[in-house]
This record gives sequence, structure tokens and C-alpha cells, in this order.
Amino acid sequence: MSGAIKWQWNFTKNCRVDIMDRKFMHEALKLAYEAAQAGEIPVGAVIVKDGEIIAEGKNMRETKQNALSHAEIEAINNACRKLGSWRLDECEIYVTLEPCPMCAGAIINSRIKTLIFGAYDQKSGSIDSVVNLCDYPYNHKVEVYGGICEDECLKVLQDFFKNLRN
Ligand SMILES: [Zn+2]
Repeated sequence: MSGAIKWQWNFTKNCRVDIMDRKFMHEALKLAYEAAQAGEIPVGAVIVKDGEIIAEGKNMRETKQNALSHAEIEAINNACRKLGSWRLDECEIYVTLEPCPMCAGAIINSRIKTLIFGAYDQKSGSIDSVVNLCDYPYNHKVEVYGGICEDECLKVLQDFFKNLRN
């Protein structure tokens, strides 16, 4: 459809809302739901290159009993394996929750081009909420969009914690 608006600004969060962003974030959300079913805090991530998903990850901290097994780290591991390279400079990562400091660092170190996240994390979000690591003068600058499908990304977390209490 020529002339159609491909993306628009979400003025409350000052971020883009792209049709493809929604599509890929929904794929990340599916992984978050899978994580919830396994008793994990539901966070999902996908890595996209040339408009296609090349790697997926979901939070597996409890399953693996490994503090490093966040969705983003799992996805980055899978992407590096798939591409045979530690450099993910032509890739975008979609994650349902604002990355923690470890994952923000991994995203910078893997040279990912763009980070798109859903819900903000007031407790350990390190892209906006607690600190913004992407704003420091590291040797790689990540382009960041937050608040994509925020309500849905928040809901999967809220539902998970509500179920835990019941
Ligand atoms: Zn993390």
C-alpha cells in the first residue's frame, strides 16, 4: 500500500510504533508466554536481520539455574551461533522488557544496531528507568526505541505475578 503511514510517533513515550515492530514484538511476546508456562518470569526476545527472525530467546534462569540466562543473552548466544560471528551489527533485538545492566552490556558488546523494547522496568531497567547505559560514550552506540506494545508486554508480567500470589 503506497503512501500508507509505516510508523508513527507515540508521543507519550516519544518512540516509534512500526508495523514490523508490532509483528516482531508479538513474536517476542509468544516466547514470554512460553517462559511463564515454564514458571519463569516472562521475558522474551527475538533478533532480526534483514527483516527475518534469526534467533530467539526467553528467560530460563530458573530452568537452567543460571543468573546469565536472561532472554536477551539466550537470543544473542543463538544469533552468534547462527551467524558464526560475535558481531551482530546488522541486527535488531526486540525484547518485551527493558534490559537489565547485564543485557544492556551484552547488547552493546555484540554491536547490535537497534534495540526495541516493550515494558519499562523501574527496578533494573538500564536503558531508561534506573540508568541509561546506551547514553554513555561507549565505543558502540545502539539506537533505542522503548514502549513498543508496552501494554501487552506489561500484561504478561502482571498476569504472571498475579497467578503467583493466588
Ligand atoms: Zn537481563
